[in-house]
Amino acid sequence: MADTPFPPDLVEDVRKRRTFGIISHPDAGKTTLTEKLLLFGGAIQLAGTVKARKSSRHATSDWMEVEKQRGISVTSSVMQFEYADHTINLLDTPGHQDFSEDTYRVLTAVDAAVMVIDAANGVEAQTIKLLEVCRLRNTPIITFINKLDREVKEPFDLLSEIEDVLRIECAPVTWPLGMGKRFGGVYHLLDDKVLRFVPGEEKRSEAEVIDGIDNPRLDADFPREIGQLRDDVELVSGASNPFSLEDFLAGRQTPVFFGSAINNFGVQEVLQALLDWAPPPQPRVAGVKGADARFVEPAEAPFTGFVFKIQANMDPRHRDRIAFFRICSGRYNSGMKVKHVRMGREMKLANALTFMANERVHKEDGVAGDIIGIHNHGQLQIGDTLSEGENLGFRGIPYFSPEMFRAARLRDPLKSKQLEKGLKELGEEGAIQVFELEGGNLLLGAVGQLQFEVVEQRLRDEYKVDAIFESADIYTARWLTFPDDLTRRNFEREQALRLGKDIDGNPVYLASTRYNLDVTMEKWPKVAFHATREHG
Ligand code: GDP
Repeated sequence: MADTPFPPDLVEDVRKRRTFGIISHPDAGKTTLTEKLLLFGGAIQLAGTVKARKSSRHATSDWMEVEKQRGISVTSSVMQFEYADHTINLLDTPGHQDFSEDTYRVLTAVDAAVMVIDAANGVEAQTIKLLEVCRLRNTPIITFINKLDREVKEPFDLLSEIEDVLRIECAPVTWPLGMGKRFGGVYHLLDDKVLRFVPGEEKRSEAEVIDGIDNPRLDADFPREIGQLRDDVELVSGASNPFSLEDFLAGRQTPVFFGSAINNFGVQEVLQALLDWAPPPQPRVAGVKGADARFVEPAEAPFTGFVFKIQANMDPRHRDRIAFFRICSGRYNSGMKVKHVRMGREMKLANALTFMANERVHKEDGVAGDIIGIHNHGQLQIGDTLSEGENLGFRGIPYFSPEMFRAARLRDPLKSKQLEKGLKELGEEGAIQVFELEGGNLLLGAVGQLQFEVVEQRLRDEYKVDAIFESADIYTARWLTFPDDLTRRNFEREQALRLGKDIDGNPVYLASTRYNLDVTMEKWPKVAFHATREHG
């Protein structure tokens, strides 16, 4: 592959792509920031839509129409917009209090993340978890410290909190001038200018920029705050790390911006950082049948990509589901034929959904970094690769070992067929992990409690099954790999009662306690016990 020159139009289109997600603790301002970013993308008529999913009564009629046409709520999942000659894909990371696996997988499909921190609360629980996930792939992170229009923590304290708790180096790019009622703006450390804070939602005009930290205008306009800012900046220059693109791209350092999302202040700087510093779609490693694993370059001509999320239709009358597919190379066009690698058969890709937050632009193609939505009737699973050429499988789309287990029992035993069907489909969708035990009983595993509630509800609504979830006496699950067949057979014979299979038929050890797991692992040193399972 490396010998073939890449098609120049692909190289150019890929270079202009940025695909990212926003990670934050609930209420830090993710929705507000998303809205403002869309505003810059010219999707002004949609500025209300992100809120719309929080309270559907406020949905704009425009957007309702789009949803009706498509018959699915795509609003929350992928938002694509154009800005400064770039195409930006913003992937929504589900923001439940209760952590779910969906979020992990969405983050496997992004090339960068924006971390929003509420300046009054600092680093919060969900932020910590999400950052751990980003770290699995060394995803570059841009930090936005929000709500400076309120009385908040001191900027130095916020930075040390991020460095200590999240263990990532901070490189401040802007620095706040006052806060709360006396929030005057931010000083841009690299450009040596003050951006004056103007409350409101409009875009900032040039008149609000004051050049040079020694500019006497600052003394005149901010007599009470400017001394502190100059002291701070001196300290920052001496004590904190200068921005390093290399460290940022390696996930070791995060550039930090201060602002107020609701006032659309500081948002443009974050967007600019995404364009200037965040990486375009990167090569991704894929296993190749009968050959060594290799990196697939985004500008390679053959189309490839993987499914990272499956979403049930919000409209219960249609049983259709949408597979969210990240393009990793080549170009999507409607009607193209691709190979479904796992099933080993050809598939026609027609009527895939492309996502534009700005509906004035209609576009039917897609390149690496873009997301398309494929109507799925059960043929696609999370982690599946589609490829125009080689038999390859992308890696790194994880299933995590569940931390909670339940056994599903029916109120009406005659419905066991529906229950089984429902659980298998929900398992394939990734809403919950489903394990089949010896004798055919199904066991459910989740990373967050909420997943059980969602599944219970959906079984009732979509499959007309009333199930009771009972606690199961299981501590954790480990995926197993064996050095050879003999070891596998011996292990299966001895451990039959603790064995199950996941939705794709892979063997799983279900440990009753930590001690049980340790003892079994010690006894079977040649068997590998994996806490995550990767596709591919
Ligand atoms: P999410 O849960 O992270 O999506 O947070 P939202 O965007 O819904 O914001 C949570 C709350 O914080 C809302 O009431 C917002 O209006 C408010 N908020 C967001 N940004 C700011 C800001 O810059 N300043 C102030 N004072 N409030 C903000």
